[in-house]
Amino acid sequence: MSGEGSSSTFKSNSKKCYYCGELNHWKNECEWKDYLCVKCKTHHMKLFTSNQERSKGARFFRCESQPFCNGFEWFDAAMKKKEDARMKKNEKQEKSTNATGSTLKLRIEGKVTMTAEGNAKDMADLIKKLQDM
Ligand SMILES: [Zn+2]
Ligand SMILES: [Zn+2]
Repeated sequence: MSGEGSSSTFKSNSKKCYYCGELNHWKNECEWKDYLCVKCKTHHMKLFTSNQERSKGARFFRCESQPFCNGFEWFDAAMKKKEDARMKKNEKQEKSTNATGSTLKLRIEGKVTMTAEGNAKDMADLIKKLQDM
């Protein structure tokens, strides 16, 4: 009788990183594994869980080259920093797409007042044409 032959048949339909505990990736693709030390910027930081009474269970990073480097950062703080960086990146992307997709309004006052609308390149072409006239 060997009823417990395959103990690896547990349900694993959702990703979970065993390193940082986030759900959207596996441990082998965890970006925290090569998180650069905030202090020496040379070594990577390792994730630990605090077992001190004051902060029990809280996770934090420490430089892997300790005790030579005392680089330290709370995991929550690092996570927040990452979120902020991501938000800023998104903002930038939005701005740049707005800039390229924007339309110019042009009002030309001559014998006949006319208005034209289009993107920057179209307007430049139009002005050239008008100057040639
Ligand atoms: Zn992870
Ligand atoms: Zn360090």
